[in-house]
Amino acid sequence: MKALIFDIKRFAIHDGPGIRTTLFFKGCPLICPWCHNPESRNADPQKYNHVDKIGKKEFMSEKTIGTYYTSEQLLNEILKDKIFYIESGGGITCSGGEPLFQYSFLNKFLKECRSEDIHTALDTSGYAEMEIMMKIAPLVDLFLFDIKHLDNARHKRFAGVSNDIILRNFKWLVSTGYNVTARIPVIPGINTEKKYINRLDKYLSDLLCDNFKEIHLLPYHEIGCSKYDKFNIGLIQSFEEPQAELLEEYSLVFKKSGFKTKIGG
Ligand code: SF4
Repeated sequence: MKALIFDIKRFAIHDGPGIRTTLFFKGCPLICPWCHNPESRNADPQKYNHVDKIGKKEFMSEKTIGTYYTSEQLLNEILKDKIFYIESGGGITCSGGEPLFQYSFLNKFLKECRSEDIHTALDTSGYAEMEIMMKIAPLVDLFLFDIKHLDNARHKRFAGVSNDIILRNFKWLVSTGYNVTARIPVIPGINTEKKYINRLDKYLSDLLCDNFKEIHLLPYHEIGCSKYDKFNIGLIQSFEEPQAELLEEYSLVFKKSGFKTKIGG
């Protein structure tokens, strides 16, 4: 059994506590137009044209994004930095794409991380069958759980799927006692109206508890736009980047409700 991974980021400090290695799983069933890793969506390795610039000259070469790893190979990669995880209270974060899309591998790999005493975080859209979530949850120390939109019609329109299963999984994880941090992509015009923020605050505050008390606001940025062309993904829909004042205002609403908040991951 192998996983398709499109990037491994070592010494990451924004994907959970301490120093971490973030593993980016390729393949995602959602189609969020604000995605800054659109190359993660396709669940196969993809060829693309890479351009190197030397002085004024450009050299094009064909490259492939996405590499298959056995769990032993991936474990060997992360073990290289185990000392940093121990010293900093860090670990590994499975991100993507959607890691749960490669559930069987993830299940095996997380068990191996457990036997090595490595802290595990799962950065997820939450879009998975409840049965899968129930099997994976005991192997995850921290969920970084995206809440993209509470309105199902808007969620379907933008992310391409219903949010029913996502919100059900979110509530189940929190009420069962798993550690969850909510991650909210902040995208002007999509989820920044005052009325919506208050609705989201009410929804999340009703779930506030010892294992769910942190919210991260992830400001939209245009950094991913150039990748749409590069990886032949289709139409780019760019949004405004949120102003610092808007992020502060958004954050304050949750702080007042008792959450610890952070702008950025
Ligand atoms: S769920 Fe995440 S990885 Fe998948 S399309 Fe949306 S933003 Fe991109």
